[in-house]
Amino acid sequence: MEHYDLIIIGTGAGGGTLLYRLKDCGKKILVLERGDFLPREKANWDTIDVFQKGRYHTTEVWKANNGSTLHPGVGYWVGGNTKVYGAALFRLRERDFERVEHAGGISPQWPLKYADFEPYYTQAEALYCVHGKMGDDSTEPTRSGEFPYPPILHEPRIQEVHDELVKGGYHPFYMPMGIKMDQADMLDSPCIRCNTCDGFPCLIHAKSDSDINCVRPSLNGTNITLLTRAKVTRLVTDASGGAITSVEVSLEKGNASFSADLFVLAAGAINSAALLLASASDQFPQGLANRSGMVGRHLMKHQNSAMLGISNKLNPTIFQKTMALNDFYWGEKDYRFPMGHVQLLGKSNRDMIALDAPGITPGAVLEDMATHSVDWWMSSEDLPDPENRVTLDNGQIHLYYRENNKQGFERLISRWSDVLKSIDVGHYFLPHHLYLNQLIPLSGLAHQNGTLRFGTDPDASVLNLNCRTHDLDNLYVVDGSFFPSCGAVNPSLTIMANALRVGDHLLECLK
Ligand SMILES: Cc1cc2nc3c(=O)[nH]c(=O)nc-3n(C[C@H](O)[C@H](O)[C@H](O)COP(=O)(O)OP(=O)(O)OC[C@H]3O[C@@H](n4cnc5c(N)ncnc54)[C@H](O)[C@@H]3O)c2cc1C
Ligand code: SF4
Repeated sequence: MEHYDLIIIGTGAGGGTLLYRLKDCGKKILVLERGDFLPREKANWDTIDVFQKGRYHTTEVWKANNGSTLHPGVGYWVGGNTKVYGAALFRLRERDFERVEHAGGISPQWPLKYADFEPYYTQAEALYCVHGKMGDDSTEPTRSGEFPYPPILHEPRIQEVHDELVKGGYHPFYMPMGIKMDQADMLDSPCIRCNTCDGFPCLIHAKSDSDINCVRPSLNGTNITLLTRAKVTRLVTDASGGAITSVEVSLEKGNASFSADLFVLAAGAINSAALLLASASDQFPQGLANRSGMVGRHLMKHQNSAMLGISNKLNPTIFQKTMALNDFYWGEKDYRFPMGHVQLLGKSNRDMIALDAPGITPGAVLEDMATHSVDWWMSSEDLPDPENRVTLDNGQIHLYYRENNKQGFERLISRWSDVLKSIDVGHYFLPHHLYLNQLIPLSGLAHQNGTLRFGTDPDASVLNLNCRTHDLDNLYVVDGSFFPSCGAVNPSLTIMANALRVGDHLLECLK
């Protein structure tokens, strides 16, 4: 069995970023990724292939509440889900790290605070080339410096919406975006500012994803070995049960085992929990690192909704994901509970809208809706409920998820609809619709997190403050599963920042 100093399982926002941090340490590192490199092909930018046919989603079927099944809207690739993400790279707010009372219950505090993450947020923004502008976001946490790149400017229709919002007393701000756009020299800019970014892979590799920004630059041909199509099926412990000795891996050419001194799990919040459960043994019948019984529990995914505000004004915007708004993040006058976050989506086209519209909707109507809509994404915090969890049923992933904390979210949706109407972004020219308001179903697990929470109490958490499992001395986790609560902004920058933080700790361990 080949031995390594360290094995990383998964190359997404967590695993890829960690690899980048460790790449120059000179130690022998094996990276095991169940997916392949995502092919560069014209279909990368084809809405029907990407959105309607789910070309880059896994074909796996998971079980869900009440024995139903779901096709998870996630993919297995080098780079994980950052290959298709919208690259909106937000920091959590300072208060997100504290205990916060919501209408639906308590969002627990983190065992570390924003100040512990700030230097790593700064480094993660540099690594992922984040564009933005400091000072406009009404809930912005304290920053040690300006964003590494200037904000992505609004196109005229979005600037108009921005100005109307400002006139109405709101505080829209430039979205922090991880794309490589040189607005001063678009002729030579890697990013061409196209209309197939949010939810699509970038055909020309101008999106800052973990594959392009971290994994490929780490493959130095010396100490790093990446095996793709290498699905880890089991972690094996030593006789004492205090440490991992090896991993069992399913490869195209058969099964293999690899041993190491240190192991880092970064398979995504659901798959990391599933892998620990799948590694149950006579010694650990509940699964590994699960003395607390917490493995797989507290699954969160945000409450998300997409909304098209349709008016009689043409919206010819190409790259729309430039603006966000946090005026309702912590509530509003007369409502003291958090409501959530609003941001622009990539511009919808008729083939995307067709997914939500009744099948009989004529193409011309869809086209009108697409060309006259401004497209929004709203997300609110869901709370960590121990009964919302990942389990295994004969090896198949089974998710139990009951929605919670809906009051603030519903208020946000209704409030935002009113704001849009008040600024003429939601005056309908299609008589029978007021808004196309799509709640994202359980299969929309893009923001999955929380299943292996970190904390100081081994009875109530799976990981310690260095994201090492309480139970196993040499097993770490750096994906979205460590979140004790999730705030309402997109999770990836926090996962990346944490991977850099844990990476610094591992560099010490590897010395
Ligand atoms: C359409 C879409 C849009 C999104 N937009 C945004 C956005 O704008 N901003 C934002 O912050 N977030 C966004 N997200 C969420 C973001 O992609 C995730 O939060 C992030 O990728 C999670 O990082 P992770 O490391 O936890 O897991 P992942 O990125 O999912 O990485 C897990 C990796 O582990 C691999 N793996 C899994 N199981 C195994 C196994 N058994 N053996 C070996 N390898 C394994 C997977 O193939 C994958 O490479 C979006 C997601 C989607 C799907
Ligand atoms: S907008 Fe830029 S980064 Fe996004 S897919 Fe298009 S070219 Fe790539």
